Amino acid sequence: MYPRAFHYHRAESLKQAVILLSQLGDEAKLLAGGQSLIPLMKLRFANPTHLVDLNFISGTSYVKEENGSLRFGPLTRHAEIESSVIAAKIPILHDCAAGIADMQVRNRGTIGGSLAEADPSGDWATVLMTLPTEIRCLGAKGEQTISLPDFIKDAYTTALAHDEVVMEVIVKSPPKGSGGAYLAFKRSAPVYPTASAAVQLTMDGDLCKHAAITLGCVGLTAIKANEAESALRGQPITEKTITNAVEAARAAADPQSDTRGSADYKRTLVGALVRRAIEVAVRRARGEQVEVSHVYA
Ligand SMILES: Cc1cc2nc3c(=O)[nH]c(=O)nc-3n(C[C@H](O)[C@H](O)[C@H](O)COP(=O)(O)OP(=O)(O)OC[C@H]3O[C@@H](n4cnc5c(N)ncnc54)[C@H](O)[C@@H]3O)c2cc1C
Repeated sequence: MYPRAFHYHRAESLKQAVILLSQLGDEAKLLAGGQSLIPLMKLRFANPTHLVDLNFISGTSYVKEENGSLRFGPLTRHAEIESSVIAAKIPILHDCAAGIADMQVRNRGTIGGSLAEADPSGDWATVLMTLPTEIRCLGAKGEQTISLPDFIKDAYTTALAHDEVVMEVIVKSPPKGSGGAYLAFKRSAPVYPTASAAVQLTMDGDLCKHAAITLGCVGLTAIKANEAESALRGQPITEKTITNAVEAARAAADPQSDTRGSADYKRTLVGALVRRAIEVAVRRARGEQVEVSHVYA
């Protein structure tokens, strides 16, 4: 289906995009990669009267390392992160970018658009919740920085005001001895996962000093599995502690039955993914180069 007619505006800067959003009101929407918005418009679930295109603003697509953090421009495509040597320093970021849909979607879709969309099945929020992540936003009243857990409010809902844009995503690099992994179960490449798990650990010898575990597609937002993290923190990683973490993660999941599978099926999947992700995270924390890919049905 064709989208409803709309007026097209090409923003020359993020500041101008904010001004346009303020002037045009609620009927205006930003266009980034268009990989969520355009399908919704074609289905006529989204019917903006004005589109403000961010794609021609220079300097909005980058991955850089500064003062112990990685910084991503709002228009940085998933494919750019997938091929970035800098992003690969935090392997869980590469796992995420490389596993999103297919090459066509990765070439267009952006990290800023993905976080702003807050799709419960989106990969970026699930992964970035395991790392200290801040979102720099620009609005009519100026700039503000919001931590990712405060930025994602609910399914498809963020802390962004109507006339605010994501201007940068800042991810603090984990300390030495850290490793992470992101694994999803998918029916095929170009679809969202049925369930996913992100695990980021910091090891001190055999002991787990810090654990962050987030579950994707099994709740209205990415779920921080606090009890699963506690099952590992301060403990050696053994079959017993992994099993405790897996059980706690399964209990934390809050899946809905849908065309991707029943709630029980997703809960089982998420447990298996957490187990595998912990195993890979530990090996990476020890300095091993471990390649992973999502699990396909
Ligand atoms: C076939 C298909 C399969 C997909 N599979 C996956 C998948 O497996 N995993 C996954 O994570 N994603 C998947 N996606 C979605 C994809 O990752 C999108 O890139 C992402 O959700 C949205 O990014 P975008 O740049 O395309 O944003 P757009 O679609 O352009 O915009 C999305 C929303 O964010 C707003 N927005 C965009 N940029 C900004 C900004 N800088 N500031 C404020 N608001 C902004 C827009 O106004 C809009 O409301 C899939 C998409 C398709 C079409």
